[in-house]
Amino acid sequence: MTGSLVIVGLGPGNPDQMTPEATAAITAAGDFFGYFPYIDRLSLRPDQRRHASDNREELARAKAALAMAASGGRVCVVSGGDPGVFAMAAAVCEAIEEGPEEWRNIDLSIVPGITAMLAVAARIGAPLGHDFCVISLSNNLKPWEVIEKRLIAAAEAGFVMAFYNPISKARPHQLGEAFDILRRHLPSSIPIIFGRAIGRPDETIRTVRLQDASADMADMATCIIVGSPQTRIIERDGKAPLVYSPRSDRGGSA
Ligand code: SAH
Repeated sequence: MTGSLVIVGLGPGNPDQMTPEATAAITAAGDFFGYFPYIDRLSLRPDQRRHASDNREELARAKAALAMAASGGRVCVVSGGDPGVFAMAAAVCEAIEEGPEEWRNIDLSIVPGITAMLAVAARIGAPLGHDFCVISLSNNLKPWEVIEKRLIAAAEAGFVMAFYNPISKARPHQLGEAFDILRRHLPSSIPIIFGRAIGRPDETIRTVRLQDASADMADMATCIIVGSPQTRIIERDGKAPLVYSPRSDRGGSA
């Protein structure tokens, strides 16, 4: 008998930012696969089983979850944020494409979640108010040259950018290089927002100008939003500034 597989987005960290659809999918499932900290966020019943694994094992995790679903399990794969944004939904699709024919018959559904950049943006104003693009700065799965090319193209096209996976112990240099590239292609006054652990008890958020941005302002729990030349900062007495990108978008420089 073929079982089911649901891939669920848990949101950025605050349980209030998880959808009722995600909560219902978790209640209905029996076996849970995911990266340790996401599995730790679940409050499960005694009859529900955890299969936590390391961050770098996405494809192996996807295959294990599919194999269990194919043999009749009600399986749930969890991701932080949204499962389709640099996360498990693509890994499961890849495993299905490469795997045995029977995996295509599994009852598969994907439950979206609030992705990190939306949680960061909502904390600070509306920095994603006009056209934007999203780039993972991790070169684990793509060459650094591809990232450089995309940064330059996005800067020249006037996009706001959101950076995921900005830095890690194994990749300490990329973020500094990314800021150097941006400084060559964008005005040094554009706002850079560092949103860290948004929705969790230790969340922090700060905005600096590109000229003052440095790699030590981020860690792997940080999502960075790079303003376009039109993004503005509104200072407010006694309140955090608002950062927004106006809907009327003239494209190039401000
Ligand atoms: N699927 C996730 C992203 C996974 S990639 C999502 O949709 O949010 C992991 C990266 O997401 C981190 O390196 C960081 O850039 C970002 N991130 C995840 N949770 C975050 C949070 N609560 N606050 C800020 N950034 C976060």
